Amino acid sequence: MPDLSPQHIDGRRALVCGASSGIGRAAALALARAGVSVVALARTRSKLIELAEEVVETGAPDLEAVPCDLENTSELELRVDRLIEEGGPIEILVNNAGGPPGGPLLSANEEDFLSPFRRHLLASHLLVRKLLPGMIERNYGRIINIISISVYEPVPNLGVSNTIRGAMAAWAKSLSNELPPGITINNVLPGYTDTDRLHELAGEQASRSGRTQSEIRRRWTESVPEGRLLDPCETAAAVVFLASPAAGGVRGISLPVDGGRLRGI
Ligand code: NAD
Repeated sequence: MPDLSPQHIDGRRALVCGASSGIGRAAALALARAGVSVVALARTRSKLIELAEEVVETGAPDLEAVPCDLENTSELELRVDRLIEEGGPIEILVNNAGGPPGGPLLSANEEDFLSPFRRHLLASHLLVRKLLPGMIERNYGRIINIISISVYEPVPNLGVSNTIRGAMAAWAKSLSNELPPGITINNVLPGYTDTDRLHELAGEQASRSGRTQSEIRRRWTESVPEGRLLDPCETAAAVVFLASPAAGGVRGISLPVDGGRLRGI
């Protein structure tokens, strides 16, 4: 019987997008600690260098920092081609980027949709197409998309985000039927997770509603059976599992890591 311990991903190579903060950063750290050689991609080089230093301190394999804007398709293509040329196949891909801003859906214009569509769906699609040949060569591939619980239940005042998340989930499910055996795609759906994104949303809600940010956070925690905001490390733990050989039979699912916020699924 094969050893399916979730720890057995050491020696693999991963590309983690949106790795300079929040869930992406936690996923990069957790994969590195599991012995994976991580390429961390985000726009700000200095934040990636800080992450690389933290990884070295933990004794994990070196982390490679790749500053790049996921919305800049030609730059992204160039960067990924070079990564593969210089370092060989990448078997684990974590698609993750900043969420679209909040606001009423009816006031959204074309660019409000196009910009997040580029950094979420189009960038993820480009990356899958670029990395797939290497995954096939290694007979091992794990594609993990960080989306949102809004895949199952639209979040009020996040209409553009809800729309893009729905498209991502449909894209991933369609791909799960096309990818060859050994190469899986799955989604992780965060609920209220204590990151910069959540602080930003609390700020937006506070200025709209006149309530304080701490009152908004208290309401959020009270609405979740787990009774707290989640730590991004908990989301990262799900990413590590889905990236591991142990998750080889898990294909095309959307896994909420939300403290029980979704009541109906
Ligand atoms: P975050 O804002 O803390 O981190 C987002 C990361 O993406 C950062 O590293 C940022 O620099 C990077 N990024 C943004 N735009 C980019 C671009 N154009 N190119 C390259 N990198 C870019 O967000 P988070 O809380 O870690 O959330 C990660 C994902 O999960 C987001 O899509 C978010 O909307 C979603 N989500 C988060 C929560 C939550 O409560 N935190 C809940 C549901 C869904």
